[in-house]
Order: sequence, then structure tokens, then C-alpha cells
Amino acid sequence: SLPAFDYEPKPYNGPRADEVFQKRKQFLGPSLFHFYQKPLNIVEGKMQYLYDENGRRYLDAFAGIVTVSAGHCHPDVLNAIFEQSKLLQHATTIYLHHAITDFAEALASKFPGNLKVVYFVNSGSEANELAMLMARLYTGSLEMISLRNGYHGGSSNTMSLTALNTWKYPIPQGEIHHAVNPDPYRGVFGSDAKSYAKDVQDHIDFGTAGKVAGFISETIQGVGGAVELAPGYLKLVYDIVRKAGGVCIADEVQTGFGRTGTHYWGFETQGVIPDIVTMAKGIGNGLPLGAVVTTPEIASVLAQKTQFNTYGGNPVCSAGGLAVLRVIDKEKRQVHSADVGSHLLARLRDLQQRYEIIGDVRGRGLMVGVELVTDRNEKTPAKAETAMLFEKLRELGVLVGKGGLHGNVFRIKPPLCFTKDDADFLVDALDYSMSKL
Ligand code: PMP
Repeated sequence: SLPAFDYEPKPYNGPRADEVFQKRKQFLGPSLFHFYQKPLNIVEGKMQYLYDENGRRYLDAFAGIVTVSAGHCHPDVLNAIFEQSKLLQHATTIYLHHAITDFAEALASKFPGNLKVVYFVNSGSEANELAMLMARLYTGSLEMISLRNGYHGGSSNTMSLTALNTWKYPIPQGEIHHAVNPDPYRGVFGSDAKSYAKDVQDHIDFGTAGKVAGFISETIQGVGGAVELAPGYLKLVYDIVRKAGGVCIADEVQTGFGRTGTHYWGFETQGVIPDIVTMAKGIGNGLPLGAVVTTPEIASVLAQKTQFNTYGGNPVCSAGGLAVLRVIDKEKRQVHSADVGSHLLARLRDLQQRYEIIGDVRGRGLMVGVELVTDRNEKTPAKAETAMLFEKLRELGVLVGKGGLHGNVFRIKPPLCFTKDDADFLVDALDYSMSKL
């Protein structure tokens, strides 16, 4: 059974799964997004656990969708939201409000170098839209480079930056070039960062007029299946892009706020400092909040016109975001995620010795991927088996994410309060499920 956890869920008398599911189908529109075969009606969350309509507890090893950094309904975050809501629930950008400026100051202090100017938006897509606009205005070029396995959002421009075809509708690509993915497991050049970086140079030399607006990538790919970029890749590429007049954008929507362990930001794992950083998800523990942080010089391009976001940095979200930063600092969550993450990775690698189906175990901190294959040499994606194990894990009380180019990667990205006991439970559940395949 799940590790002991001292919390009693409240009695639930609301609508049951079937009714909620029917309404979802009727009113929320169709989607290809994966659901459990038997709909799961989640009615309460507490730290790294979720509760269904029957009071059954589940280990949430996906943290919502990598959103719940501090933990579901973390008391400090709830309290900050509640206290702010009682005073002022909304302030437009026309007026001053200290909840917004306090949060901006605290957030800016988490960045190295000259990354000191904060813009608030409401989501990761909006953050990347704004970053792209800044890069284009600042450089006077329209050409952007992103990675083949990257994900940057669901708005038109960010969908163009995204190269994962499961997430794309046929829309104009708008001067976007997708570089070969520097994926040590599946990539054509293995871990050879130089060859991957050369592809970026080739795009610039042969696909553009020689000047680019910018390069954007996640520092560990999230939706693409917890893919760590080949070591040294970003250093090489940032040099190439800057020489071509472009700016370097780090999409930290999934990797920020201590998730990758030890560091606050994923870009630190590659030893680079970007010119623009975008973030969302964990920033507000799942509140609708995103941000772009950049240098005063780059930010100055937005003074040409009115740049306005009605809800961006709403005081309630800002108060919640500030509380998240304080929780990470107070509880040293980035150190914790490094510690629990290495335990989890070690246990998963042991499992890999015993099960041929585990082709790759990768990641850092609490951003971990387990890629399943039916043939280790051919790396044939084990799609059906992944789907079966996904359901089996749910039966055992463990919720994970699924992703990767072929939908054959388990994405383990729990709230940062996840413990070693939780990691053990997850690995034991995976072990048991795989033994029954
Ligand atoms: N960038 C990355 C790396 C993401 O994972 C996501 C969301 N999955 C986004 C951008 C888009 O964020 P949102 O869904 O908040 O618009």
C-alpha cells in the first residue's frame, strides 16, 4: 500500500465520474489527449497525493501537468492566495499593486547576470509568444530556430515553434526552422553535441539570410519525453546563434523552479545564461500564471508600442507565485528534488537491468523519463505496452504522465515534495506491473 500519509480527505457528495465524463464530452469539445479508459474523477488534492470520489488516494507522479511544484493545496500557497483575495482580487496594469511588484522583485533575484526585467502573462504559450516577439523586434529578423522534439505551446506562433506533429495542426510555419534534436538516446548523432550544433549552423547558413532572431529550446524536453539535450549542446548553439545576431531563449515552463534538482533553472545544467527565459506551470503551483524574464536592453524594444496583458500578474496569482518561491527557498526543494531524483533514477536503472522493455532511463532531479521499447537494438516503441502499464499503474494508485514522439515514455515529474518512500512505491508498482506483462 501507499506510504503512510496523515490526511483525511473531506467527504464528497458531488457528481460521480460517469456524469462528469458525459458533461465533459458534451460541453468541453473533443480532444485526442489521453484519458484513462475508466474516467478518473479527482475531487481533492493534498501535497503529492490526489483523492478520487471514493476517497481513494493516488500518488500524483505527474504533479497535475508538471504544474504543482510546491504540492497540491500547499498550506502556505493557499494562505497567500486567500489573504490576497480578501483584499484585492484583480488590479489592472494601469494601477500599482505591490503583490505584483513584490513578486517581480523576488523572481528577478533568482536569475543570474542581467536578467532583471519581468513581464507577467497567463500561460506558457503566451510567455513564448512574447519572447518570440521580443527576439524579432530586438534583432529585426523574423527567423527563429527551435528543436524537432520541442514543445512550446498551442497558440499559432508557439505551435509553429513546436515540431512534435501530434500537437500540431497544419498552420503556416512563419520563418521557423526546426533543428535536429540533440537526443542522446534516439538522435542521429548520439551524444555528439558538436554535430547537432553544426545542424543549427547549417540552418543559419543555408536556410536564412545569415541573420536570425533567436533560438528557443527547453533545457530538458518535457512533452517530448524528458529528453536531456546532449551535454554541451546549448553552449555551442548559444555561441552560434549570438554570432548570427540572434538571442537565446530558454523555455523553462517545465524545468524551472527547482525541478531539475540542485539548480533553480534547467539552463544551469548546461552552464549557459540565456537572453530571455520563459516560465509558467510550476511558477504558481498551477495558477494561471506565466512570465518572461529578460535584460533591460531587450525589454526596451517593447517601449515602442503599448504592451498590455489584462490579467498578467494578477495580484492573487502573484501572491501565490511569491509563496511558491518562499516554499522552495524555505524547504530547499531544489536540493530535495536532486536527492530524491537520484534515488528514483538509481532504482529505475536497477529495474532496467531486469526488464528488457525499459530502453532508456533518463532525466535530472524530479524530471524523469522511462522509455519503453519492444526491441532494445531497434528501439521499437512499445506503444501498446506503455498504454497497458499506464492503466495498471493507475489501478495500483500511481498516476504518471505519458509522452515522447511515439507516446512510449513515462514522464515522472511529481510535486517537489515527493519523497524517497513515494519513489520506492512507484518503482515497486512499475516492477509488479511489468512482471505481469
Ligand atoms: N512550453 C513548454 C515546455 C510546455 O511544456 C508547455 C505546456 N505543456 C508550454 C510551453 C505551453 O504552456 P501552456 O499550456 O501554459 O500554454
